[in-house]
Amino acid sequence: MTAKIIDGKTIALELREAIAAEVAAMKAKGFPAPGLATVLVGENPASQVYVRMKQKACEKAGIESYGYVLPETATQEEVETLVKELNDDPKVNGILVQLPLPKGLDEERVLNTISLEKDVDGFHPVNIGRLAQKGRESLFVPCTPEGVIYLLDSVGAELEGANAVVLGRSNIVGMPVALLLVKRNATVTICHSRTKNLPEVCSQADILIAAVGRPAMVKRDWVKKGAVVIDVGVNRVDDSTRERGYRLVGDVAFDEVKEVASAITPVPGGVGPMTIAMLLRNTVRAANLANNAS
Ligand code: NDP
Repeated sequence: MTAKIIDGKTIALELREAIAAEVAAMKAKGFPAPGLATVLVGENPASQVYVRMKQKACEKAGIESYGYVLPETATQEEVETLVKELNDDPKVNGILVQLPLPKGLDEERVLNTISLEKDVDGFHPVNIGRLAQKGRESLFVPCTPEGVIYLLDSVGAELEGANAVVLGRSNIVGMPVALLLVKRNATVTICHSRTKNLPEVCSQADILIAAVGRPAMVKRDWVKKGAVVIDVGVNRVDDSTRERGYRLVGDVAFDEVKEVASAITPVPGGVGPMTIAMLLRNTVRAANLANNAS
């Protein structure tokens, strides 16, 4: 068996085109352009790149982006004051505080300050809490986990009653993915660094989600024949044949696992592009909520 390769790049592009069309229709009806505020604290180069990518994606979709940059030395109060100002700013529908924040800042307190209606990253403790409760819906779901579910749906993966194994329990990927899978009635096992017999646990999975940050950790014999495998990992490995000296690989040994899985995401070009598409979708949703409320 050779797996179907789930083309996240194309799926995300189609989604972004649909979002751009929705934004154009909103504007044609006389509503203002949706607005996303990005808050970058400090000079983490990766964060700078991510924020720039998000701003560019907004521009392409017709969404206004408002960039705020605070110095590495910004105090807790300064960051929270900015977030509160953005909460009160009617042209801002979504607020994205780029994580991680510099050491010394209390991330949870900052995320808690974001208005629930503008929490387009879905990391507000109340939105995450609702994800964990039966019969409750979050206003916004974190972007990468939502992208994972979107990709599973794109290949028609049967989630109800499926054995799903999630490798990783982080706040931003593993845990919310697991909670979303539970909401879709999968039977979910969450694995982490203290899990025993990891290959054995993984080999029971109909749906396997890898989000550990360990290059090519998931091998062929960890994967059940016909499983759907979603690889969230993005890892740099040295590669002298590349001009930049490295290449990106996932948490799954792609070439060998694709021989047993029924469908699999590549890295790059799988989950990565979905994250930004979901952010745009959440921002438009926030704008629709604001327009309906006014
Ligand atoms: P974290 O480092 O926050 O979490 C990693 C998780 O994996 C932890 O729960 C950890 O366990 C577990 N883990 C680590 N090593 C092992 C191991 N050897 N065996 C079993 N479990 C292990 O990472 P993130 O969740 O933030 O990110 C995971 C990956 O996804 C990274 O490669 C990251 O770059 C990528 N990523 C990709 C995104 C995208 O848009 N495509 C977005 C966000 C992340 P424990 O809890 O016990 O420490």
